[in-house]
Amino acid sequence: MTTGTMRVQALLAAAALMAIGCGPTASSSSTAGAADAKAFLDTVNATMLKLGIAGSQAGWVQQTYITDDTEALSARANQESADATARFAKEAPKFDKSDVPADQRRELTLLKVSLVMAPPADPKESEELSKIMARLESAYGKGKWCPDAAKPEQCKNIDGITRLLAESRNEKEIRAAWEGWHTIAPPMRKDYARFVELSNKGARELGFADTGAMWRAKYDMPPDDFTKELDRLWGQVRPLYLKLHAYVRMKLHAKYGDAVPANGPLPAHLLGNIWAQDWTNIYPLIAPANADPGFSLTDILKKRRAPPVEMVRTGERFYTSLGFAPLPKTFWERSLFVRPKDRDVVCHASAWDIDLAEDLRIKMCIEQTAEDFTTIHHELGHNFYQRAYKDLPTLFRDSANDGFHEAIGDTIALSVTPEYLVKIGMLDKAPDASRDVGLLMNRALEKIAFLTFGLLIDQWRWNVFSGATPVASYNKAWWDLRLKYQGVAPPAPRGEELFDPGAKYHVPDNTPYTRYFLAHILQFQFHRALSKMAGCAGPLHRCSIFQSTEAGQRLNAMLSMGQSRPWQDALEALTGSKQMDATAILDYFAPLSTWLDEQLKGTQVGW
Ligand SMILES: [Zn+2]
Repeated sequence: MTTGTMRVQALLAAAALMAIGCGPTASSSSTAGAADAKAFLDTVNATMLKLGIAGSQAGWVQQTYITDDTEALSARANQESADATARFAKEAPKFDKSDVPADQRRELTLLKVSLVMAPPADPKESEELSKIMARLESAYGKGKWCPDAAKPEQCKNIDGITRLLAESRNEKEIRAAWEGWHTIAPPMRKDYARFVELSNKGARELGFADTGAMWRAKYDMPPDDFTKELDRLWGQVRPLYLKLHAYVRMKLHAKYGDAVPANGPLPAHLLGNIWAQDWTNIYPLIAPANADPGFSLTDILKKRRAPPVEMVRTGERFYTSLGFAPLPKTFWERSLFVRPKDRDVVCHASAWDIDLAEDLRIKMCIEQTAEDFTTIHHELGHNFYQRAYKDLPTLFRDSANDGFHEAIGDTIALSVTPEYLVKIGMLDKAPDASRDVGLLMNRALEKIAFLTFGLLIDQWRWNVFSGATPVASYNKAWWDLRLKYQGVAPPAPRGEELFDPGAKYHVPDNTPYTRYFLAHILQFQFHRALSKMAGCAGPLHRCSIFQSTEAGQRLNAMLSMGQSRPWQDALEALTGSKQMDATAILDYFAPLSTWLDEQLKGTQVGW
């Protein structure tokens, strides 16, 4: 559910591997004039657009027609963009003292904070860093657990591990797979420590305290204030999380006995997901009685034999009902909706804006399931966002901050309520409110459970980058945070010879993660604000903004700002407030929260 590779930010984020030319120390001492800044930004915007289009075209063909040649073409195009971005980012400080108009100042600032990893100026170190990154990525990509060395056919990659943890109810089997997957990580430990040293050096050359501070600088507020802001948001949701945690623990204790303590932390391996970041797979074990909603969207779609293109048309109609223009003809001609029979493709769902303007597409291998129906609405959210900001300078063609892009489609997906399904003729009658606890529990296992994980990955990395967590306590710090936020513990003590953070893709791949936490907070805040505009007076989880042009206009006001203003202004354009607010989550889950209070009477929450 990523946005298609070539949004500008993605381009910028991909940048980094080679140190080129003009180091920041050399350039920051001289001050260039305002006219030079304008010329520089014109070049940057034009170059990024040109390289971005080339990269998207190559990337699209590579993902929908995988061959050695298309992979090589795509890698080459990406490298070219990455090199250009790194070069531009390092040139930007040249204009730090120039007197330029506000919008140009913002473009320069965005350029400076655009790198996810800053290569050090020393070419030897830069090359070492790039080799380490490639090694870390491939160590993860090739990661496999082989329960029996004599039987290679039993080896499991991450897909196999994921399936086993989702389906198995055998504690011994689950534990073996969980421990098995974590064996891919210890070889990454030394490389990761060196990666931290080198990338920090590059970040310091750009004027940041360390790589973590560079990441936090993207959020239009001082890095330390941003950290505090995340803590504040988490504090708002924590009481609800504690209840969910205690209820799940009670049910799992009943199922697994002493493998799940009656009062302590939850075992990290028994939550249906290798990272315990999404608990929906254990829903059958904890399902509330009499809370079956009485219908299955998957069954409905299958019974109707709904063609994938029709499912996408239905998604599009949601957006046009809000007042957005229909998707262009080329969207229907060029998108990929079904898995081709004759060739390999990357089926992971994504949304693309090939020309950073009108050439929108999605790439999905759609099946007739409720999950894919939701994902369609999610991906189209990216497309409508992309088109809304298409007239801005290239550097502004992105979401207000990186949490916003993922939040939009999810916001719309929250409007896919039973009442909405009735309205579009897919369901005869919406279930009554007595069934809400089941629907809400399912959603809480996905969204509330995720928040803690979404928060802690970067908490760990920021401390690692700043040196607050030394190499000697990498693993301890990881499990301290997992205990603190998630309230989970490993099935047995984990020593420093291990490297458990490395078993999560985004760590060896070096992708920042806080955006997913933000997206989970923002989507509920957006949904509450839009529902109000749509005049929904019922409970928030039953509100759908379908057919509300008032909500559509406000949504578009925010989307069309792209990244041209601080995210606080974009947030205000939609919600009327400059502050993120997690209380919408509490409103949304209020009936579940009340129900949990009943179930937990006399039970201790927390760990
Ligand atoms: Zn997405």
